[in-house]
Amino acid sequence: MPAISSAQKSQIEFALTTRHAQLLAEIREELAQSGQQHFADLAGEVADVGDASVADLLVDQNIAIVRRQVEELTRIEAAQKHLHDADFGACSECGLDISLQRLLVVPDATRCIVCQGQHEKTYSHESTPKL
Ligand SMILES: [Zn+2]
Repeated sequence: MPAISSAQKSQIEFALTTRHAQLLAEIREELAQSGQQHFADLAGEVADVGDASVADLLVDQNIAIVRRQVEELTRIEAAQKHLHDADFGACSECGLDISLQRLLVVPDATRCIVCQGQHEKTYSHESTPKL
């Protein structure tokens, strides 16, 4: 089990919350600029619900400009749900601990740096890591 203290989890939680808010702001801005004001309003309404339904909707709409951001948003939300699980911080590939330093920079990381490197070499065309 990864040895992440509750203080460290708070740090990661803060990083997740900050990134989540940042992404929502970026998505709203992109949508507003691209004339998708309807979706921008929609994204604004659910900003604090933690609900991925708008993310799903936006992906369905296939709005390419925000697609990557929405994908990251979905991973952030998954990490927020997963944060208090006993196995949070364990690499999904090798089971070793993902370094705290990495989790703070990439709070939605599901692989350690070694496995992520391997994964990117193998699946360089794939933008969404498997959970
Ligand atoms: Zn690993």
